[in-house]
Parts: sequence; C-alpha cells; structure tokens
Amino acid sequence: MISPPNTYDAEPIPASARKAIESLLSSGDLFRYTAPENAPVSLLEAEFAALFGVRYALAVSSCSAALFLSLKALDLPRGSRVLIPAFTFAAVPSAVVHADCTPVLVEVGDSLRIDLADFEAKLDDDIAAVLISHMRGHTSHMDAIMSLAGDRGIPVIEDAAHSLGTKWNGRDIGTIGKIGCFSFQSYKLVNAGEGGIMITDDPDIAARAVIMSGAYEHAWKKHPGLGAACEKWQNKLPLYNMRMQNLSAAVIRPQLAEIPRRVADGRRNHDHVAAKLDAAPWFSVPRALPGELRAPDSLQFLLEGFSEDEARAFMQEAAARGVKVQVFGLSRDNARAFWNWQFLAERPDLPKTRAVLMRACDLRLPARLTGAELDFIAAALLEAGQSVKAP
Ligand SMILES: *Cc1c(COP(=O)(O)O)cnc(C)c1O
Repeated sequence: MISPPNTYDAEPIPASARKAIESLLSSGDLFRYTAPENAPVSLLEAEFAALFGVRYALAVSSCSAALFLSLKALDLPRGSRVLIPAFTFAAVPSAVVHADCTPVLVEVGDSLRIDLADFEAKLDDDIAAVLISHMRGHTSHMDAIMSLAGDRGIPVIEDAAHSLGTKWNGRDIGTIGKIGCFSFQSYKLVNAGEGGIMITDDPDIAARAVIMSGAYEHAWKKHPGLGAACEKWQNKLPLYNMRMQNLSAAVIRPQLAEIPRRVADGRRNHDHVAAKLDAAPWFSVPRALPGELRAPDSLQFLLEGFSEDEARAFMQEAAARGVKVQVFGLSRDNARAFWNWQFLAERPDLPKTRAVLMRACDLRLPARLTGAELDFIAAALLEAGQSVKAP
C-alpha cells in the first residue's frame, strides 16, 4: 500500500544549474545588463528563440508581465477591448486591465476551449486584440481563431503559460499568434519559482517590449537584431521594469533540455489516468482537438449527472482517500472562476462557462509521478465517484 502521492512538489532542479549559480553568487553579477555579453538571461533568450524557431525572445519577471507587455507593445489605444476566454486564470484579465484595456469575456464550452460561435459573435470591429489563454494547456481551435481574427486584421496573443511543448498541427503553441507568452512559475513545466518569456517575429513589438520591460538608456543594445527598432522607441516609452534576473535564467536554462521528457511523461501520465476515469459512467475527459498534441501536467475531467451536493461530496470522498480534486466553480474564491473577478468593471454572466465550471474537476498530475502513484490516484477517484453515485 503506498501513501497518497504528493502532486504539488516539483522535480529537483538539474544539478548542472549549480555551477552557474555558484559563479553568479561569487561574482554578485545578478543584474541581466551588467555583463558586456553572455549574461544568463541573454543566453536563455537566445536558446528559447532557437528552440521555437522565432526571431526574438524577451525574458521577464512572470507570464503576467509578458502578457501585459505584449498588450502595451501592440500600442493599443487606452480603453481598447480585448477578447479573452471566460475560463482562464485571474492574472489574464488582470493583465488586460493593467494595460488600460477592457477584457471582453468569451464563452468556453464543455471542451474547456473557446466557444467559436460566441467568439465570432463578439469579434466585432471594436475589438482591438485577441488574447487566447490555452487554459490548463487545452488548445483552442487556432486555425479558426487565426482566420477570423486575420480577416479583420486583429492581432492575436497566445497565453501559452501552461502549454509549453503543446503542438498544433505540428507547430508549437505560442508561435501561431503574433506573440506567445510562457510562464516559469513553479506549477508550470519549467520551474524557476517565478518568471516568464515572450516570443515574436515582429521587431517593432519586440523592441517596444524590450524597452518597456526596463532596458533603460542603451541596455537594449544587448538584445541582438533590434538596434534600429529600439533606437526608434528610445525615450518614447515608459519603463515598467519587469526584467528577469540572472539567477532565474541559471535555474531555467538546464531545464530546457528536460522539456521533451517532461512532455512525454506528462502526456503518458495524463492519458493513463484519463482512460481509467473515462471508462466510468460518472466522469468524462475532454478530448484533444484533431491536430492538437497535448503536453499536460494536470488532468481536467467533467462530472456527469452530479448535483451540486453530489459534486461537493465527491471532492470530500476523494480528499478522504488522499487525492485533492477541485471543482473550479465549487472551490471558494477560485481564481479561475470568472464570477470571482470582482475587479472587472463589466461582469456579464456567461452561462455556458459557468455550467462547465460547476462540474469541471482539476487535478495536478506532474510528470514525475510513478505508475503506482497514478494508479493510486485513479483508484481513489473511481472509488470516490462510486461512493457518491452508486454507494
Ligand atoms: C500560470 C498562468 C498564468 C500566469 O503566469 P505567471 O507566470 O504566474 O504570471 C497565466 N495564464 C495561465 C493560463 C496560467 O496557467
């Protein structure tokens, strides 16, 4: 009998990070723009851009900072309306508000992906940008979104915070929109405690974001290929100072090589538990879209035919068996339930999204879990379901 698995702890940081960290600690060289060249943050940007085959990467303090800078870099007029999915993390509408824009929430269906009919209905001439949050790594239909937005000349930002390693028809998620943003917060695939990065092929967007991230005076000269674009924006933009520091980059760089293994193991773990849950009458697992190759480190599944009381009982029964599951809409103050975003000026109801959040369960499933641990989790959930629905 194994004890309930810990689904919160991260993997150890690769030992190869220690040498770089030691050298930073002994030199005290923590600021990204002090060294004349090859600062760990600059090396991370070059490596990340190469990994995704894009021209520019800018490492910053968080994915939220990357989303904010992306919106600012698009130079949207104050008060611009930005479409976002109604199922996302509170940091996403917050980034829109922070950029002096107004979030317009789009319904999310039982697939946990953007409802395309609602997206099309809300994509009017008044929408200045689209921010697609691939929430929990569930990819919205990027071909449809790019074509609808492209027809109207509306830029698309991808919030790929939780989608590192996900493919869409063979392309990397985060490279399909004009800008892609990723997170290095501890609960994501690459863990630096905190951190984020944005990627783009557009030199003007990259240059504006570089300057606003805090490349003051001529620090932007340490960003290759942006000289002319940065010179144009010098002293014309506010400095928000959202830089990444060298220690974070030293922790992230050796993890880049681990991404393929974490993606493969995470997908295997997810699919193993998902198949077991899907076989029970009281659960269903949203399917990947055709063309989507997922990179999950968590599992979302829907309760089938549960009343609210039964859903609460299910969470309790699972917890009693050592497995913590949250129904997004039932856990108090959940930051992913749009009705808790009381900081928004306009808060329309979104009945589809609300309905799915009242039965969508969230379970962390990090790549490092063993087969025995996965079986423990699946058995606990199946027993919890049975004890509520067929005692
Ligand atoms: C984690 C997350 C964010 C925020 O990332 P931070 O690096 O913590 O700011 C944004 N969007 C989604 C979908 C996330 O999962």
